[in-house]
Amino acid sequence: MSRKEKIIVFSAHSDDFVIGAGGTIAKYTQQKNKVLAVVFSYGEMSHPWLKKKVVHKMRYKETVDASRLLRCRSIFYDLRERKFLEDYQAKNMKETLVQLLEKEKPTKIFTHSHEDPHPDHRAVHEITLEVFNELQQKPELYMYSIWNPVSFKTHYPSLYVDISKTFSLKLKALWKFKSQKVHVLYPFFLLMYKSIKDGMKMRTRFGEHFFRIK
Ligand SMILES: [Zn+2]
Repeated sequence: MSRKEKIIVFSAHSDDFVIGAGGTIAKYTQQKNKVLAVVFSYGEMSHPWLKKKVVHKMRYKETVDASRLLRCRSIFYDLRERKFLEDYQAKNMKETLVQLLEKEKPTKIFTHSHEDPHPDHRAVHEITLEVFNELQQKPELYMYSIWNPVSFKTHYPSLYVDISKTFSLKLKALWKFKSQKVHVLYPFFLLMYKSIKDGMKMRTRFGEHFFRIK
């Protein structure tokens, strides 16, 4: 991580980028690299009884608070959960995202895994590949995992990042998402288990594990 980097993290829901890459994000920004989290949905499905505007405001605030801790920027798109690909087509998001990436010129993109059982996560993976193919200047492309706790079946090269110094920031950022009913259920012990397991690969306390796919 010596030369200055610009990182973009694609995130289906507002807390995915923190669960999947929060420690790495904080590490990058501490080393004066710029990180932008792109959140694809506000996630109204977990609060169907609340007005859309209320959920948006809540999610926005939680994400801004979490991003402040990790020192990254974040932006939202308003795709409906479980209808990502439909909305992506209808809203011509491909062009929007290509323009965003051409403006930001990331050196690395992190996105969801195609092996993730959550349909929105897999949709973001597909969208990422489609947009990536349009780019003139290709960044490195990595994937992170949310709901595949044990291991990937994939044989892509691994990137392990030592997050021992930023792991507590990651946890603090995660606590900001009090309204994310679905993901707050993401078991704490699973996160600990994965972080320690990935850390052991580097003989360090906590790690995050990514796969380079492009
Ligand atoms: Zn998610």
